[in-house]
Amino acid sequence: MNSHAPDQPTISATTSDRQLLINNLAFVKGQMARACQRSGRHAREVTLLPVTKTVGESRLRMAYEAGLRTFGENRVQEVRTKASAMTDLDIKWSIIGHLQTNKVKYVARFATEFQALDSLKLASALDRRLQAEGRSLNVLIQVNSSGEESKYGIPPADILPFVRQLVPFASLKVQGLMTLATFSGDEQRVRPCFRLMRRLRDRLRQEAPDSLSFDTLSMGMSGDFPIAIEEGATVVRIGQALFGQRPLPDSHYWPQSP
Ligand SMILES: *Cc1c(COP(=O)(O)O)cnc(C)c1O
Repeated sequence: MNSHAPDQPTISATTSDRQLLINNLAFVKGQMARACQRSGRHAREVTLLPVTKTVGESRLRMAYEAGLRTFGENRVQEVRTKASAMTDLDIKWSIIGHLQTNKVKYVARFATEFQALDSLKLASALDRRLQAEGRSLNVLIQVNSSGEESKYGIPPADILPFVRQLVPFASLKVQGLMTLATFSGDEQRVRPCFRLMRRLRDRLRQEAPDSLSFDTLSMGMSGDFPIAIEEGATVVRIGQALFGQRPLPDSHYWPQSP
């Protein structure tokens, strides 16, 4: 994925890492701006969430120096380690991956956002833990927009009854929806996932209980974020286009992806 970054001579590892990150960041922001322009949107309508799973502390610190403040992570154990090593920085952690109920206590303690709410059992466990911590948490509901068995998320047809049942969980501040589109280089297969999400969001704005908000649409990753923006994303979650290819294949994170 870092094929976006121009080749450059290695001066020292650190200097070139930093330069690469800065170049990648400029490239991604440029792509975001162009996608906004194409679809008649303002650049400020779309937020970049850098995804830092597998990215080590030194490069995280570089990203912080480059002005990034909120980082997306999908494994609780990994973010616990990083968060405790970087308490000197004012970093906000967004948890974007499937969460097991036995890990809710950590998320309730240090996350500023949770993007992968996908069951009532989890909602209930998180809410209880947040009450105990005296905190509230911004959450997004993960939707399975591709219909693939291997993907987490609420099926689109079940979303309205699901969100209605979230109302009693007062510590969960529902802000919108999150999805992973089908993994495909074929735009004709990817775009419908994003389009479905936008329609779902519009419908929830009309029909969901007033105490829940659906302004946020988190969709689009390194391989498909320009399409997601064209279809209405307000947050794009980008890892490899910023930090380079991960050492482990996607199948490590998402069973059955290519
Ligand atoms: C890793 C991850 C991303 C970012 O994927 P890239 O291909 O590195 O941009 C986005 N969303 C979730 C849920 C992820 O786990």
